[in-house]
Amino acid sequence: MSLDNRPVYTGGCQCGAVRFRVEGALGDASVCHCRMCQKASGNFYLPLVSVRGARLDWTRGEPKRFRSSSAAWRGFCAECGTPLTFEAPDGIALAIAAFDDPAGIAPTIQWGVEAKLPYVDAISKLPSEETMGDVSSAPYLAELVSYQHPDHDTDQWPPEEKP
Ligand SMILES: [Zn+2]
Ligand SMILES: [Zn+2]
Repeated sequence: MSLDNRPVYTGGCQCGAVRFRVEGALGDASVCHCRMCQKASGNFYLPLVSVRGARLDWTRGEPKRFRSSSAAWRGFCAECGTPLTFEAPDGIALAIAAFDDPAGIAPTIQWGVEAKLPYVDAISKLPSEETMGDVSSAPYLAELVSYQHPDHDTDQWPPEEKP
């Protein structure tokens, strides 16, 4: 919360070169299945939340932008490639999973369903394992050290030499 009790959200890219801060209420949260969002995210669909009614500040770096259509720009980290924004004339939306705490930002609508990939709805029915469920065939997982930025703001990044 900010001093005047407005909610505050933070987030950024995986490498930490780009960080953002949102103060105020988030707008509509959605996933978009359209082919343009698939290509922009390299993924089956793109989860976005509007920050149109809030204040958005880039607190470290700023996204590089690709103009994906006559109407919109797509922002991403130029250092690590994390997709971060969808920017249209009526406002900016941020990638939900780029927030430090995405669990609280639940999508309420799906857009672009004409391009929904045929297996997307079946994913939740697939066999399921935790990350460490594969440790016998991928022993490096037991020793894994993350080089991603943590899920909170940092005074300095990267903190030191990587091991
Ligand atoms: Zn980055
Ligand atoms: Zn889309």
